[in-house]
Amino acid sequence: MDNNLLEKVVSLCKRRGFIFPGSEIYGGLRGTWDYGPLGTELKFNLKQSWWEYMVQDRENVFGMNASIMMNPKVWEASGHVASFTDPLVECKTCHERFRADKAEDIKEHEQTHAKKKEKVEWTEPKQFNILVEAKLGVVEGEKTTVFLRGEITQGVHVNFKNVLDSMRPKIPFGIAQIGKAFRNEITPRNFIFRSREFEQMEMQTYVKPNEKEAMGMFNEMKDLRMKWYLDLGIKKSKLRFREHAPDERAHYAQAAWDIEYETPWGWDEAEGIHHRGDWDLSRHSEFSGQDLSYFDSETNERFIPWVIETSGGVDRALLFFLLNAYYEEKDRLILKLHPKLAPYKAAVFPLLANKPQLIEKARRILKDLKRTGLNVAWDDRGNIGKRYYSQDEIGTPYCITVDFQTLEDDTVTVRDRDTAKQERLPIGELSKFIQKVLLLDN
Ligand code: ATP
Repeated sequence: MDNNLLEKVVSLCKRRGFIFPGSEIYGGLRGTWDYGPLGTELKFNLKQSWWEYMVQDRENVFGMNASIMMNPKVWEASGHVASFTDPLVECKTCHERFRADKAEDIKEHEQTHAKKKEKVEWTEPKQFNILVEAKLGVVEGEKTTVFLRGEITQGVHVNFKNVLDSMRPKIPFGIAQIGKAFRNEITPRNFIFRSREFEQMEMQTYVKPNEKEAMGMFNEMKDLRMKWYLDLGIKKSKLRFREHAPDERAHYAQAAWDIEYETPWGWDEAEGIHHRGDWDLSRHSEFSGQDLSYFDSETNERFIPWVIETSGGVDRALLFFLLNAYYEEKDRLILKLHPKLAPYKAAVFPLLANKPQLIEKARRILKDLKRTGLNVAWDDRGNIGKRYYSQDEIGTPYCITVDFQTLEDDTVTVRDRDTAKQERLPIGELSKFIQKVLLLDN
């Protein structure tokens, strides 16, 4: 494992416009990151790929996009006000605070002091609630405290009845959502792996309330989620499942497995698959006084469904795709991103930047490719070799060069990012050629 891999990826992200430290010109804001031009495209592609895979390509799955700010009662009912906590310890010497359950962080801090021949004494762990508060209202002193959602899950459960009434879904069915969540993390770290503002992508699948149905769906979801990472190019050896120990599970979870990625700092969580039982709907029924049951017209039974959840971090997945894609070759640096994720699907170059005929032809190709829905870049700076390297670094799968032969026979050179091999293709086949590698076979 390359120990500097994380730093290399962070530096590439800054240099090539993927991700910048949040509020950088003001000295930053801990635990926040801003996505730049290419990072925004990458993130958009990642979310779109998840949405197609989990929602549009499957049946009986519906989308939601709920508010980030919700009635504070939601968070009482969901248990977050009482127990969305992490154990916090403080170093008595320097007063820095850490999560007591993150052994690596604790060890690292003790080693820092040990170098100065100091021994660390820790305070007793105390439970620290990580919900982020905000104030709403227009009269000072009468403002209401609301929480920025700590997870996106609740926006789905509180709309369960709305989706039932409007879509009339048949059980089992899923409701999916992608969106921002906020946590007052004690120790944001490892770049975008743990930040205080991040995005989640989640699927809540409602099933009949029995173990056979629930575990069947649980296993199906485990496989499907693992397959998504693999289909998008993560190496198999870098992924694994890990079952949570009973004392590790969240307050609602009856069964919980993580998909983990082997990061430069060890195996760590990419996403969780949780059996939430009837926790959410029962609690929201109780706290709201609304009937959140489902009527099964086939069996004439009324019940509160159980929930199987898959909850992944958009930013975490994005980091893992970057780490997985980073390659250094003798004379070039390549991001071997899956073409579906790559910010640009191709780049178009006129061989020479001072030949109007070449430029005109190349611009036409660029425009036509864009019209077929492909995000394609233009580059006419420097020599061709430099342009190739520049596109390799940002993961562009194909470079298309328009040269003098193009003007005669309408063919172009297409260079493959990973093999650096070139072939000659008719202009009319370009779009199909590129579209082909964007398909996922799920
Ligand atoms: P951790 O133990 O790493 O804090 P968690 O088990 O609390 O994570 P969940 O509450 O299950 O995480 O959240 C689901 C997913 O949301 C996680 O698997 C992760 O991908 C993402 N996520 C959670 N917290 C953060 C964060 N602070 N920054 C970025 N992504 C996060």
